[in-house]
Amino acid sequence: TQPRADRPLLPGATLGVMGGGQLGRMFVHAAQALGYRTAVLDPDPDSPAGLVSHRHIQADYLDPVGLALLADVADAVTTEFENVPAQSLRVLAERRPVAPAGDAVAICQDRADEKAHFSRAGVPCAPHAVIRTEADLAAVPAGLLPGILKTARMGYDGKGQARVNDAAELAAAWQRLGRVACVLEQRLPLLRELSVIVARGADGQLVNFPVQQNLHRDGILAVTEVPAPDVSPQLAQQAVQCAAAIAAELGYVGVLCVEFFVLADDDGGEPRLVANEMAPRPHNSGHYTLNACDISQFELQVRAMTGLPLAPPRLHSCCVMLNLLGDLWLRDGGSTQVTPPWEQVLALPGAHLHLYGKADARPGRKMGHLTLTGPNAEAARDTALRAAALLG
Ligand code: ADP
Ligand code: MG
Repeated sequence: TQPRADRPLLPGATLGVMGGGQLGRMFVHAAQALGYRTAVLDPDPDSPAGLVSHRHIQADYLDPVGLALLADVADAVTTEFENVPAQSLRVLAERRPVAPAGDAVAICQDRADEKAHFSRAGVPCAPHAVIRTEADLAAVPAGLLPGILKTARMGYDGKGQARVNDAAELAAAWQRLGRVACVLEQRLPLLRELSVIVARGADGQLVNFPVQQNLHRDGILAVTEVPAPDVSPQLAQQAVQCAAAIAAELGYVGVLCVEFFVLADDDGGEPRLVANEMAPRPHNSGHYTLNACDISQFELQVRAMTGLPLAPPRLHSCCVMLNLLGDLWLRDGGSTQVTPPWEQVLALPGAHLHLYGKADARPGRKMGHLTLTGPNAEAARDTALRAAALLG
């Protein structure tokens, strides 16, 4: 029985965030725009969200003193990353409303639990097996190979994964991953990848953003396009229904993103969806909402956690979002750090640049994103191509 504000927490209250990354930073921006104060807990003195928050509690996510301080200063608490210790959210929930709840976040932290949850919600996922022991490894059905072995916990941006073709490669990969609990998934022929972001209030009200079409490179999100160019209205509706069922089954409060694979139907029918994973927070594939929707995923997180009404978002522009990875800053094999040509990029119509305030560029590190909006999909795509050419 966690404390719950019986009335909405109105602007002027302080909202706490576990984690100080870019998602926390954009959450802080949205909270502050509505007149809230913010407190970020993150051990890094230069964390992107800590840099812009009213308060920054520099403490480890498990530090009881830091958690107590956060509960002292914040009237409600949320998280910006899914690997926050669920136990810390439960501890905070003894004193303050916490959304999403630790139990929901815990499910998202474990690929095996996550897939079990998809099944509970009636949503299909990739054929898979959970590998915790030598015996599990030996019992893997041959039909799952070739597959992708993923650590059950702590994986992100394609890390903690190995592509395996046969039983010998599988055994070697499990060894390399440290024999930790893993999920082996059948490698599926993806037609494309989608995601859907929903927000659910404590009263069960649910709103959704339009379906996003995503392109990953090396396991990292590279491009998001909205409206999803290759998705039928029926498939989009199905994705939204799946995400809604997943959120409702969790009793979820807050913003939730569900990623999907689109697969060709074996019998030549309509393409079908399988859920890949979910994130208990705003998501990289929803950054476009800042510039192409009349309400952003971050503002919806603020509204959901404070008990304010959830406005159904409206897409007012077509858009393409490009992730800006550290590689763009690096030249000569990483020995020189350069500034990308922002002046030229910002001369493009509908270019919206977001940088996260990270000083050091590293390969694959998310430094910012660029959203190109336009009155129609062709215009947005054309601008995105020009931006990509400028960024080389
Ligand atoms: P992460 O947590 O690192 O995002 P994902 O499970 O989403 O891990 O995998 C990253 C990317 O790898 C996916 O977006 C997709 O492009 C590819 N991928 C993952 N699982 C499969 C699969 N079973 N079959 C084919 N491609 C996959
Ligand atoms: Mg993913």
